[in-house]
Amino acid sequence: MKLLLVVAVALIDADGRVLIAQRPDGKELAGLWEFPGGKVDLGERPEAALIRELREELGIEVKEPCLAPLTFASFAYAEFHLLMPLYVCRRWEGFVEAREHKALKWVRAKDLRAYPMPPADAPLIPALIDLLG
Ligand code: C5P
Repeated sequence: MKLLLVVAVALIDADGRVLIAQRPDGKELAGLWEFPGGKVDLGERPEAALIRELREELGIEVKEPCLAPLTFASFAYAEFHLLMPLYVCRRWEGFVEAREHKALKWVRAKDLRAYPMPPADAPLIPALIDLLG
């Protein structure tokens, strides 16, 4: 089975809330709320991929030292096995805007379960509750 490497981030604002992003209509898993990020290109470093994706998707600039790895998602979809490191980031430049998503939401970690997520993303919630309460 194919292995797909995707990187994701929990952006955390000054109030300790986490950003989730709603996948757009017409894409796989449309309407589900995910941690922003995207595919790592062949040979690309995961941090570089995440910085690139956050620039494209949200219009923000993140510096590599602001990215701290927290945990991994690992889920076997029908077509591929997804391996997805989740980074935490509390500092960036610019204001988030939904350039590729349907909507964005800042949510307390303990409230994340109220938002339907892709099956790879949902198991990441406990690590965020541990971190943020
Ligand atoms: O975002 P994109 O469609 O490029 O991601 C490829 C695949 O990785 C998605 O179809 C989905 O199966 C998975 N994915 C996920 N959770 C994310 C991002 C991607 O499960 N946060």
